Amino acid sequence: SGKWARALAIVKEFDDNCSTPIGKLRQVADAMTVEMHAGLASEGGSKLKMLISYVDNLPTGDEKGLFYALDLGGTNFRVLRVQLGGKDHHVVRQEFDEVSIPPDVMTGSSEGLFDFIAAALAKFVSEEGEGFHPAPGRQRELGFTFSFPVKQLSISSGTLIKWTKGFSIEDTVGQDVVGELTKALERIGLDMRVTALVNDTIGTLAGGRYTNPDVIAAVILGTGTNAAYVERAQAIPKWQGLLPKSGEMVINMEWGNFRSSHLPLTEYDQALDSDSLNPGEQIFEKLISGMYLGDIVRRVLCKLAEEAEFFGDTVPPKLKIPFILRTPDMSAMHHDTSPDLKKVASKLKDLLEISNTSLKTRKTIVEICDIVATRGARLSAAGILGILKKLGRDTVKLGDKQKSVVALDGGLYEHYTKFRVSMEKSLTELLGEEVSANILVEHSNDGSGIGAALLAASHSQYL
Ligand code: ADP
Ligand code: MG
Repeated sequence: SGKWARALAIVKEFDDNCSTPIGKLRQVADAMTVEMHAGLASEGGSKLKMLISYVDNLPTGDEKGLFYALDLGGTNFRVLRVQLGGKDHHVVRQEFDEVSIPPDVMTGSSEGLFDFIAAALAKFVSEEGEGFHPAPGRQRELGFTFSFPVKQLSISSGTLIKWTKGFSIEDTVGQDVVGELTKALERIGLDMRVTALVNDTIGTLAGGRYTNPDVIAAVILGTGTNAAYVERAQAIPKWQGLLPKSGEMVINMEWGNFRSSHLPLTEYDQALDSDSLNPGEQIFEKLISGMYLGDIVRRVLCKLAEEAEFFGDTVPPKLKIPFILRTPDMSAMHHDTSPDLKKVASKLKDLLEISNTSLKTRKTIVEICDIVATRGARLSAAGILGILKKLGRDTVKLGDKQKSVVALDGGLYEHYTKFRVSMEKSLTELLGEEVSANILVEHSNDGSGIGAALLAASHSQYL
């Protein structure tokens, strides 16, 4: 019928506008490399902040002792205690607790947020088992993974530039987040010192390097997306300080804020952006990360319902609710292998109160999930190529056997199989067989928590 033809035309147009042929990916990668240079050259020189982390030494394996880590960066936060055994012993023991952050805390007051965190930390410490205490007379030390853009002032202090990923607490912006946490720890009477403030990408890089010396970069694909890598200190013109002994500095790219005329943006992306808490910002993140993918799918379904009676002659009211279709739901539909797409039917029913869909309707929904996930996955591969190009590791020099490992982490990468496979396949396609043999993507499972504990150890007050 005419309605069905209209629906197919809308999907076809969406597919065309999302397409990421190899040539376009190369343009995106080149633009990423250009912006990296610009962001390193001067403060405010690029959409890419290329933040200096003050991490100029990555873990060696010699780190020893009991350290804590706090990982705040999405809807959950984690507290960890890690017993490091030193040379050849690595992580002897580790324990963690995960707490979800109530939405009102994410958009309330700074004191409210940090008191909430301090309380969870105090509870974690109070439940500590025997033989799992800091050495007598020593203060507990913590690595704080804080995954929002921060202007570091030192390894253990930094001011919040802006919130992302659904957080919005005005009075934290411009404040030293370690100061805020320390005050909350004092309010609750917990004697603990923050010795390292790191981004999750930096933590993942540190955690990855701890077990594999070839790790040169880390990428997070979770609620948001970001990347960090090891840069030559000489290649950072905006760095005013002394050159570190190692000659290296880890850079937090904040690549979620990348944007380029080469990015395939559609009307749905524009609408998602203008309805968001941070319009005009984090455009790369809004195309790639777990917070947004499901909502792009919802927006396409909404258009189909409104303009092509895709779900019958009325628009299902639930479909109008932002973020009602989450990326894990999208992923579940996308991976549905049952012949009659049972999973798609049950998600439609449970989440959107849509029943009695035809098989061809459900197939079209899977196709829309595929378009959105594939675009995000391929753009993340292009971003990784951008980093490899900046480091000159996108080609093989004659007889070169140097391996480059990129540590990956985040719920999207971990759980969305089709996304992960598409990302890895696209990277191989971009690099070619020969170069690909030297570039490895490695899952750094919870590297960011352990990485923060490692950096807390290497910046301990007792060294
Ligand atoms: P964060 O990025 O908040 O630190 P995670 O790395 O655990 O946390 O990532 C969580 C995100 O991963 C979720 O917001 C969601 O978008 C995505 N995710 C989690 N599970 C799945 C899944 N099964 N399929 C697809 N995406 C998932
Ligand atoms: Mg995380």
